[in-house]
Amino acid sequence: MPAADRVDADHPANCGTYGNGHVAHYIGIRILGGRPWGWRDGVVTSIRGLDLQVRYLQEDGAVSCWHHRDLSNELAVGSPVRVFESSLLDTGNGWISVRTEGGLGAVPEPTDPDLWASEVNTTIADLNTGRGIVVDEA
Ligand SMILES: [Zn+2]
Repeated sequence: MPAADRVDADHPANCGTYGNGHVAHYIGIRILGGRPWGWRDGVVTSIRGLDLQVRYLQEDGAVSCWHHRDLSNELAVGSPVRVFESSLLDTGNGWISVRTEGGLGAVPEPTDPDLWASEVNTTIADLNTGRGIVVDEA
């Protein structure tokens, strides 16, 4: 089934689902904020319905991301993003929950996570938008 056919026309405007692709849960945001090595930089290569494709910039690969809201008002082909393949897309305007397909799998654990300490983000969940917001970004 084409990914765009998964769009639920009856999806509630006040969605309260915390599954991947819906509202970002503060615990998930907090956990992944503490794992800064897990992101991959990418660029949006297509947007079709609620699905977008991201091609990675530093590795040969791509991933498909589904989100329950249309993101075409803030992202376009060529937009820079970051993907945490387990469940997050950083649009530059917050971290949104996504359901991913394809991709390269989780970024391997670093041998010394302490070297990433300065990259660890403090985050909050914006209950109004369902996004994770980094509150300590330089
Ligand atoms: Zn939803």
